[in-house]
Amino acid sequence: MIYLDAAGTTPVRREVLEAMWPYLTGDFGNPSSHHELGERARAGLEAARADVARVLGCRPGEVTFTSGGTEADNLAVKGIALARRAADPRRTRIAVSAVEHPAVLESARSLARLHGFVVDVVPVDGTGRVSPEALAAVVGPDTAVASVMYANNEVGTIQPIAELAAVAHAAKVPFHTDAVQAAGVLPLDVRDLGVDALSISGHKLGAPKGVGALYVAGRVSIEPLVDGGGQERGARSGTENVAGAVALATALRLAEGERPTAAPRLAELRRGFVQRVLELVPEALLTGDDVHRLPGSASFCFPRVSGESILLELERRGIICSSGSACAAGSSDPSHVLLALGIDPETAQTAVRFTLPATVTAGDLDEAARALEGAYAAVTGIARR
Ligand code: PLP
Repeated sequence: MIYLDAAGTTPVRREVLEAMWPYLTGDFGNPSSHHELGERARAGLEAARADVARVLGCRPGEVTFTSGGTEADNLAVKGIALARRAADPRRTRIAVSAVEHPAVLESARSLARLHGFVVDVVPVDGTGRVSPEALAAVVGPDTAVASVMYANNEVGTIQPIAELAAVAHAAKVPFHTDAVQAAGVLPLDVRDLGVDALSISGHKLGAPKGVGALYVAGRVSIEPLVDGGGQERGARSGTENVAGAVALATALRLAEGERPTAAPRLAELRRGFVQRVLELVPEALLTGDDVHRLPGSASFCFPRVSGESILLELERRGIICSSGSACAAGSSDPSHVLLALGIDPETAQTAVRFTLPATVTAGDLDEAARALEGAYAAVTGIARR
């Protein structure tokens, strides 16, 4: 089996599992307890927070551990919008890009439904990029928060985050970015990015599912979504997932150390793969941006062919990939991301996404490209050789 669905999830790294182990066994204490076991758990949790803060270039107190990327996005969008409107009642609008993950889009819609906010959706160009001008056209003195993802999970397009954050700041609007797909392959320093809030998720990086983190700048107020014992400085109550936090920190630290060699290697392998696919299946349309693209992401549409059938044929040939987002699982609607790029609904339903894990080899990709040629031939009856 060749696994090419790393944007869906990744296996837990051995080093990560080993780093977690003590906090699941001997040092199992509750970090809020004052006995020694509790203090050992607290020390592990705070060391993990410091590790994450080092990668993000922020203070440890600006990192909140969450149950994953979805919760981090919810906390950022809802928490900041509610706090900002409480401080300034004119701020009743939320700006989000058209290609956001549902964790951001649905958070904005929920604010509209339950709290009377108005959602401004910022359009993207044909490659999925948000221009600073498009954001500037929407943010103003009535905007409570703006959220644009760092890199898209379906087509891999990378946004000009520093420029977009500057546009938001010119209107005194806090700026959040969903960096779930960027973590480990793109620079994450929040000072360079100029963002006020940034979300990451463990399971895209070699940590388990169910742990994530949100950076929120100390200068930005945030309303908690989960109330209780006041853990995480009141931003997110509930006994902390110590082993999960240690796992996320370990995975992030390892990925960050490997990034200078791993990211260019993946980009080179992906470029070769895309070229090979377009040679073998000239009908394939590469979606997303040619230049501003996640190193390991290649997504195609196959006009007038069933994407689902290609996926099944690929799986029969041992190639595991996806139709786009795993998060819209079970949905047969065309992807909102591809529609936002201007792709027609019928073609949008033919998407096949390959996202390369760090361990992928040139041989794997050659096999995958040949399998795709075979899968396409099986589905369409077009055999070229
Ligand atoms: N944001 C993006 C861009 C994602 O790709 C994902 C997961 O696919 C999430 C958020 C949600 O993260 P999690 O699965 O940790 O809830």
